[in-house]
Amino acid sequence: LKNDQLDQWDRDNFFHPSTHLAQHARGESPSRVIKTASGVHIEDRDGNKLLDAFAGLYCVNVGYGRKEIADAIAAQAQELAYYHSYVGHGTEASITLSKMILDRAPANMSKVYFGLGGSDANETNIKLVWYYNNILGRPEKKKIISRWRGYHGSGLVTGSLTGLELFHKKFDLPIDQVKHTLAPDFFRRDDLSQTEEQFTAACVADLEELIAREGADTIAGFIGEPVLGTGGIVPPPKGYWPAIQAVLKKHDILLIVDEVVTGFGRLGTMFGSDKYGLEADIITIAKGLTSAYAPLSGSIISDRMWKVLEQGTDENGPIGHGWTYSAHPIGAAAGVANLKLIDELDLVSNAGTVGAYLNSSMKEALADHPHVGDVRGEGLLCAVEFVKDKDSRTFFDPADKIGPQVSATLLAQDKVIARAMPQADMLGFAPPFCLTRDEVDTIVAATARAVKTVLGS
Ligand code: PLP
Repeated sequence: LKNDQLDQWDRDNFFHPSTHLAQHARGESPSRVIKTASGVHIEDRDGNKLLDAFAGLYCVNVGYGRKEIADAIAAQAQELAYYHSYVGHGTEASITLSKMILDRAPANMSKVYFGLGGSDANETNIKLVWYYNNILGRPEKKKIISRWRGYHGSGLVTGSLTGLELFHKKFDLPIDQVKHTLAPDFFRRDDLSQTEEQFTAACVADLEELIAREGADTIAGFIGEPVLGTGGIVPPPKGYWPAIQAVLKKHDILLIVDEVVTGFGRLGTMFGSDKYGLEADIITIAKGLTSAYAPLSGSIISDRMWKVLEQGTDENGPIGHGWTYSAHPIGAAAGVANLKLIDELDLVSNAGTVGAYLNSSMKEALADHPHVGDVRGEGLLCAVEFVKDKDSRTFFDPADKIGPQVSATLLAQDKVIARAMPQADMLGFAPPFCLTRDEVDTIVAATARAVKTVLGS
């Protein structure tokens, strides 16, 4: 097929997610056909080789073109492309993978429920929290607290949990059972006189007030990412997680830790829960579970929840929750091969060391720029946030689209992909774990050049 034919079919037929539909149909937004990829590079049909510093959507953690995973998928497809996992059925791959996940998860975790993507896994989580409270005889304890700027998916419940306006607007979301509390973003705090510790205390006070307002006996769960991801790549302020966990414990509120981005090594530890000492009741996993070689997600359930779920089926019969593709054999085979590769190549520790180098190099190159307000990150997550005026921390008008401008310039000048985060003035980096120090140098130099082109020196 010729490129212009594909381009026409794309605009005529393909409903792209998270896309300005009208602009795309009019040909005003880019249309790019990706053909092949290897390591940290992707290549389009025109032969443009691009350094993917966002690992797809922070998911191709082991890098592109891994033959071991492709071979495992092919072998599984030939032996058994599909069978369901209902009423006790499984495959060697799905059973092995559940064991491998539990071997890596925090000690209080007990079982894995498999889904397809992060959104459906979080839908599962909320249903299980509700089921749990119904079995315990407290049907009024159902509301879920999420954070503004958290990202947890884009279904009806998960789009409600997501604390970004774009995901609510015109969809009649959030639903009533979801309530939001402060985003733990120290840089964007309202009161600039607050220290980091004071800001943490303000986040905790906001949560306490929300619980008091709604009534603790109506709040079932709290969901959060260890490091806020799509909402701007924001590591928690000092003391945040221990203080939040203490509040949740006090009010008997379950903790769902969404590790879709941070799970399997992105922060330089196997889970973000390990890094921040989180004791989750459920951990959400997706993306890095298969490095996106096939769709697969999971809900890792704690021992304390599992005991109640089990009891529930004795009282009510089989649990009425399942997807046709739960524990799909091809996804499971990809997951097994992916986790083996992460171990063999010691990629979690590389994510930690090369991630520290990325963050320190980005800081060194950009922190003094008059329009760079913040450079922050953890492991292989890094964000640069732009401001109009640094001293007064005045932001640009979102209509100026500084983030998208810098990311488009970075791509045009140096063929490096970074993500303009939904918050308009931020640029995010989340490269594959196999990134080298030389590639870090390339990304940082290209970013500094793009910032200079758009915002001057
Ligand atoms: N949770 C987090 C933290 C995410 O970053 C995402 C996606 O980016 C999701 C959930 C939703 O995952 P999916 O897009 O696979 O449904």
